[in-house]
Parts: sequence; structure tokens; C-alpha cells
Amino acid sequence: MGKLLKDMNFIDMGLHYGYPTCCIEDFMVNAMVVQFSSGARTTHTEEQNKVSKDTGYTGFVPCQKHAKEILRGEIKLEDLIVNRQCKTPFPQGEHD
Ligand SMILES: [Zn+2]
Repeated sequence: MGKLLKDMNFIDMGLHYGYPTCCIEDFMVNAMVVQFSSGARTTHTEEQNKVSKDTGYTGFVPCQKHAKEILRGEIKLEDLIVNRQCKTPFPQGEHD
């Protein structure tokens, strides 16, 4: 499993875009579940789905803890993005 995750390159991608590791890990777990169940299932909570919807489906879904904090208004999604190496502003990628 460790090797597969490495192959999927999510950590590099997540760090590249400046996401916190807790959110990257949550993202990876969900991606694995979705992949192995043909997209029929997701580990995302209602809170995570709401944040994803509210932010216009940027492709980045924060972890459950951060999703709750965002919904409570304690932090903003943008606050999670630090040390972003990608030059284009969030949420666009370099190839958009
Ligand atoms: Zn997080």
C-alpha cells in the first residue's frame, strides 16, 4: 500500500500545492477507496462535501477536522494553503 501511494504521487502533488499533510492523507485515503470501489464510495463526511461544494469543487477537499473548522468559520480554506510552490494562484493548477 505504501508503494502504491507513492506511485500515485499524491504527497508530492499535495505538497506542491501547499496542502497540509493531514489533508493530503485524508485525500489519499478517499482516493484509494474511490478507486477500488469504482467511485461508488467515498470516505468524505457531510462537512467535507459541503466545503468542497462551497468552494466550487476546486479538487482540494480538506480533512474532516479542517472541514469542520472551515464550516465553523474558524479558518478559511485558503488558510490551509501554505508554502505553495505552484506559481499560479489557488485553486488553479499550472496547466489550467
Ligand atoms: Zn487537515
